[in-house]
Amino acid sequence: MKPFTYVVPKSLAEASEAGKQPNTVLKGAGVDLIDRMKERLQTPERIVNLLPLKDELAGVAVEASGELKIGATTTIAQLEQHEALANPALAGLQAAAALTASPQIRNRATVAGNILQFTRCWYVRSEAFHCLHGGRGPTCLAMTGENRYHAVLGWMDCVRVHPSNLAPPLLALDAEYSTRLGDKVRRRKFTDLFPAEPRAQTAEHTLEAGEIVTAIHVPKPAAGTRTAYCESREKLTFDWATTACAVKVVLAGGKIAAASVVLGAVAPVPLPRPKAAALLLGEAPSATLFQKVAEAAYAGASPLAHNDYKLVVGKAIVREALEQATR
Ligand SMILES: Cc1cc2nc3c(=O)[nH]c(=O)nc-3n(C[C@H](O)[C@H](O)[C@H](O)COP(=O)(O)OP(=O)(O)OC[C@H]3O[C@@H](n4cnc5c(N)ncnc54)[C@H](O)[C@@H]3O)c2cc1C
Repeated sequence: MKPFTYVVPKSLAEASEAGKQPNTVLKGAGVDLIDRMKERLQTPERIVNLLPLKDELAGVAVEASGELKIGATTTIAQLEQHEALANPALAGLQAAAALTASPQIRNRATVAGNILQFTRCWYVRSEAFHCLHGGRGPTCLAMTGENRYHAVLGWMDCVRVHPSNLAPPLLALDAEYSTRLGDKVRRRKFTDLFPAEPRAQTAEHTLEAGEIVTAIHVPKPAAGTRTAYCESREKLTFDWATTACAVKVVLAGGKIAAASVVLGAVAPVPLPRPKAAALLLGEAPSATLFQKVAEAAYAGASPLAHNDYKLVVGKAIVREALEQATR
């Protein structure tokens, strides 16, 4: 690992000043970041550790407005176990947290770090390969190589997938996020956090260099809201999803009055599927309806040589999420 300066800030103001320096990276728990530094794929001169800023960045709270505020450095386990998540409207977020990685990682890794983690594509994460997303080669090696875990939807010149469990349910819940860069404080919609055109040379997220995510805000759910999150994966623990789906439905008089469907692990970004969700509106929950929605969620898919299984498994996961949310 290349030597670096380790900054332990005493305040958010100090962290955001340090974050503005060139070749500086922000660190949550470091589960993803240190992994990449050990492979020499990221070689910062300065690391700003955000974990000491507990008062400013950690914790979950229900605001007076009913909005849920999740501090950026809250651990995934703290989020999962918070009493506010014991609610059918937030069940999808709780399930996504509970299914992440392993207990050890959930007790250490932060919510912001999970959402902002780098792709798991084995080509870009290995020092041995030179691919376009890493900026070290001319093409996407996965497109014609070993692509069992790669994208089937929404890809352009790079078939990486976005690995975060927490991002799909937060998108389904219309969450927002706050950031700080120097003195500038901003609050934006969660959809703005991911690139609209995820090309090889675009990053996983749209944050500026040194911009600190300070909190995530989930609006107060409407009465009758229910959410669910389901995923497929090869191992029962310690593994990333091969396909995932977060859904939100608002039930009124036995019919679905509002809905969101967001796919995970199948595209370079967590992928909202508004046309699939629109099929649910005004309808009563049924297996036939959920089958139609699952087909629509994967409409236009372009599987690669080794991952067409994702279409079959992914549609079953959409149906399962809808069944759980309307049970
Ligand atoms: C074996 C294993 C299995 C796993 N399985 C899953 C899984 O099933 N699902 C899943 O979703 N994840 C999984 N993970 C990934 C894991 O959840 C993430 O690596 C972890 O959540 C990252 O959080 P962190 O706090 O360590 O982030 P870090 O490694 O510290 O940071 C990750 C990235 O986010 C940036 N960052 C961190 N915090 C901020 C902030 N507040 N503002 C701006 N930028 C910030 C960093 O600069 C870095 O680029 C797994 C990991 C392992 C090792």
